[in-house]
Amino acid sequence: MKVLISVDMEGIAGVSGRDEVARGTSEYERFRRLMTEEANAAVAGAALAGADEICVNDSHGGMRNLLYEHLDARAELISGFNKPLCMMEGVEGADAVVCIGYHAWAGTARAALDHTISGAQVHNWWLNGTRVGEIQINAALAGHFGAPIVLASGDDKLAQQVQATLPGTATVVVKHALDQLTVRSRPLTAVRRDIQESVQAAVQNRKAVQPVRLEGPVTFQIEMVRANHAEVACWFPTVQRIDPRTIAVTADDVATAWRMAMGALLLGSTADR
Ligand SMILES: [Zn+2]
Repeated sequence: MKVLISVDMEGIAGVSGRDEVARGTSEYERFRRLMTEEANAAVAGAALAGADEICVNDSHGGMRNLLYEHLDARAELISGFNKPLCMMEGVEGADAVVCIGYHAWAGTARAALDHTISGAQVHNWWLNGTRVGEIQINAALAGHFGAPIVLASGDDKLAQQVQATLPGTATVVVKHALDQLTVRSRPLTAVRRDIQESVQAAVQNRKAVQPVRLEGPVTFQIEMVRANHAEVACWFPTVQRIDPRTIAVTADDVATAWRMAMGALLLGSTADR
């Protein structure tokens, strides 16, 4: 039984400020260690549930945050940014997906470091007309490969959005957000214990969670922060301009639509060179 554990950073207990999740700051070195230890609690839970293949995918920023030498040695580690499935890389063949350190979508009130895929680039993201964040996009990608997201951890706003959009997915609240940059974190030992126990239960219970399966065609609509990013993104002839800041891509399946959307964002990001 294979479990993919996707680990983001904004939703790790203790994280409150932008410097804590940004490479090159003194605070970052502390928090990447906490991120690794929270991932380890999930690895332990997956192993207790009977997983014999555990893959941890570093899913934050440049995706080279987790400390391999401190990661539970039962897990493989995917590091690096250039992966077509991004936060869901490694999902092929997985029986269950666990998301650790996740956060609410861009524009959520009183949510820790809320954003969607790229804070610098994305104002709003819709999947087939419904507003989504990273966890909902990733649930659709995992579902394309037949895997359910069985558990997500993060702040209380992430948990609310998961409960409202992904029936059956368990949540662990590691902190309460008082503001985008202010959190009340639960005690560390309780957080680690809850993640381990909840991951174990969620993986054991994986067959009760239906993978998200979308009938094609699938459309991603993205309102960018800046009109010039949308302008350059539309150099791909398959990218539609909805309004000065908003683009859309449509494909027969979500995995293809995702690659088109990521390609458009990456191309758009070159507009500021
Ligand atoms: Zn992140």
